[in-house]
Amino acid sequence: MKVAIYHSSDLHSIQIAQNLLELLNDKQIEVDDMNPEIVITIGGDGTLLSAIQKYIDNIDNIKFVGVHTGHLGFYTDWRDYELSELVDAIKNRNADEVHYPLLDVKIKHMDDSINQYYAINESTLRKLSGTLVADVLIGKQLFERFRGDGVCISTPTGSTAYNRSVGGAIVHPSLKVLQMAEIASINNRVYRTVGASLIMAPNETITIRPVLNYQRTFNFSADRIDLRDNDIKEVHYGIAKKQVNFLKYRHTGFWNRVRNSFIGDIDEI
Ligand code: NAP
Ligand code: MN
Repeated sequence: MKVAIYHSSDLHSIQIAQNLLELLNDKQIEVDDMNPEIVITIGGDGTLLSAIQKYIDNIDNIKFVGVHTGHLGFYTDWRDYELSELVDAIKNRNADEVHYPLLDVKIKHMDDSINQYYAINESTLRKLSGTLVADVLIGKQLFERFRGDGVCISTPTGSTAYNRSVGGAIVHPSLKVLQMAEIASINNRVYRTVGASLIMAPNETITIRPVLNYQRTFNFSADRIDLRDNDIKEVHYGIAKKQVNFLKYRHTGFWNRVRNSFIGDIDEI
């Protein structure tokens, strides 16, 4: 069992990573940053997003475990004071796995070349000044012409992140679906969009095709990747064949996490 530690850069996370390394050494568990079978992240949900990008090429062969050094996260089950319990669980291999869908994102450029990205939370296409004018296609069919700040296409596990802030629905992660939420759409007598977020069937795809007379420079994101790009013909979204595997040592039910994160303890009501 080869393990890698991926930590955020704050002092507390560095210290926890050091403690974890000592525990792994004590149990003779091999540490291998290049070809790990298990990646333990230490930090927050954002730390896990970066770790997934780092190991994306080998993601099918890796299982992730999240230790949080701040608040309870959506991808982070373990508290920083539970490290020895965590190391025992890894040593004894008595953990279940859970798989979460990834978003497959392809940017097609003007010369038809393609760049591919993956996201476990979401991908956005936005314009930060002026409005994004873009055709939205479901499959090959034109659905609407969007005008507004942008669009956010999220996975179920990403539905509690940016998607939620822009009014999207929270989706249980056992559903392998993607969701398109509008970011500040303009709706008046001239411009019209459906005005609600759309949850697509697992095999459906979405294409966002900017109407180029109106704009050239776009802000594109995929999880923590953030690009300014002036060469985008269209962006294509679907559920990826790859998925992310997590070791589930402890079952914090999804709706419990949602309640803990956004509402608080039930006794506080
Ligand atoms: P960040 O500024 O630390 O992230 C913003 C907050 O989102 C943090 O509290 C983060 O948790 C939390 N978060 C991340 N993934 C989540 C998830 N799946 N469900 C619920 N909350 C989640 O930046 P970051 O750590 O690099 O995270 C990047 C993410 O921030 C993006 O993927 C996007 O979803 C989100 N974001 C949100 C907005 C918005 O709501 N207006 C705007 C931009 C980006 P941690 O503190 O544990 O990292
Ligand atoms: Mn963060």
